[in-house]
Amino acid sequence: MRDNILSYFDMCQREGASLQRGMNFRLRGRHSVILMSVQPNAPYRDRIEEDGSVLIYEGHDTPKTTDNPEPKRVDQPQFLPSGGLTENGKFHRAAQEFKAGRKGADVVRVYEKIKKGIWADNGYFHLVDSWQENDGNRHVFKFQLVAVEDVESDDISEDLRFTEAQRSRIIPAEVKLEVWGRDNGKCIICGATDELHFDHIVPFSKGGTSFKSENIQLLCARHNLEKSAKIQ
Ligand SMILES: [Zn+2]
Repeated sequence: MRDNILSYFDMCQREGASLQRGMNFRLRGRHSVILMSVQPNAPYRDRIEEDGSVLIYEGHDTPKTTDNPEPKRVDQPQFLPSGGLTENGKFHRAAQEFKAGRKGADVVRVYEKIKKGIWADNGYFHLVDSWQENDGNRHVFKFQLVAVEDVESDDISEDLRFTEAQRSRIIPAEVKLEVWGRDNGKCIICGATDELHFDHIVPFSKGGTSFKSENIQLLCARHNLEKSAKIQ
């Protein structure tokens, strides 16, 4: 379920893998997983566009080594020294194949760091484009991802197109932070501090906004489920 709040440990446990790398192409042959942050001190320049439905995600640097002490001064690599593809290279190839109409869009699950130790599940996205650009200093990869509703998490999408109706929106990080602070990191009904979700008071599907903290509240899993049972 999108918009739930979890620890780094929960996240790794749920995906069945260590997510240390930040970009994880087709984990165990399924969806890919990326970690994002739009905090001012974030290592990469990820950004949200078009009313929250599009994520522009920056590729990742070469690892810091004795031969390469300053990764931020080096182009983001497409290939490993062995000649294989880096995670940048794998995501790039998948996006280009989708663009060329040779395969469906890859499904990517996106987790966002809200603050230290607190992550939000931003749900599933389709990987639709990629390119390299000069950031004034070097070449970096950029990946365009579109937030979608109700995709099959275990399959690479078979459809070559996705419709506008499938589009979803993510709650901006500053709204999440504001709600987290206002609700003191607790379910507003019972005060539980685990299995929390950012809940739309008026659901997104019924026209509720993701952009105003007034429409977002913290609910535990139980109260979130009770609420959606009432609405449906
Ligand atoms: Zn509760």
